[in-house]
Amino acid sequence: MHTKVGKDLVQVKKLLENDDLVAIPTETVYGLAANALSDNALRKIFKTKNRPHHNPLIVHVPSIESVSSIVTSIPTAALTLLNSFSPGPITLLLPRNSQIPDIVTAGLPNVAIRIPAHPLALSLLSSLSFPLAAPSANLFGYISPTSPYHVQRQLNGLIPYILDGGNCTSGIESTIVGFDEDLPVVYRLGGISIEQLHQTIGEVRIHN
Ligand code: AMP
Ligand code: MG
Repeated sequence: MHTKVGKDLVQVKKLLENDDLVAIPTETVYGLAANALSDNALRKIFKTKNRPHHNPLIVHVPSIESVSSIVTSIPTAALTLLNSFSPGPITLLLPRNSQIPDIVTAGLPNVAIRIPAHPLALSLLSSLSFPLAAPSANLFGYISPTSPYHVQRQLNGLIPYILDGGNCTSGIESTIVGFDEDLPVVYRLGGISIEQLHQTIGEVRIHN
């Protein structure tokens, strides 16, 4: 397979609608994106990355409204975090509705959701009728890529397209926050600090 590098959003949209994989830029790292509602497309992510199936994927959406369309409820603290830090490096674990396939969450009841702060990623997501599941665009066990060149070095010949959005501005992965009876629990520290979480939603528990 020939891997093209470019900025052609129309071609990228067609590939994703056809269940193909595309590497996309975000402000944190490049993601290996596929239709988050298509089992067929999602299986390609795990196969291409050699990623174990028990490792759930983060789903990317363009807006807070689109978060609502794939979950059954949003705790108040989650809404506060979305309003304060999205688009940005915050990922929320929220109860998924029946649209989200099991393979996305490794069978877990919650789905990880994030709104990436990259203009190209946001225009792509807004143009699609489905969200994108996107783990980092590296082979399992390797370093997450922060430029189209890094992606090419690992995935050349394995995917049809790398959407060129330049170098990632952050390079630090998203902070993951879940909720236990509506109380926030930090699952992974990243681009949003504990202090920033405290300032917006008060005390948070760290998952161990
Ligand atoms: P990444 O490989 O950077 O895309 O991050 C995916 C990580 O998010 C996983 O390895 C998990 O640690 C975390 N994650 C994703 N979905 C869930 C979920 N439903 N429940 C708990 N953790 C999750
Ligand atoms: Mg990763």
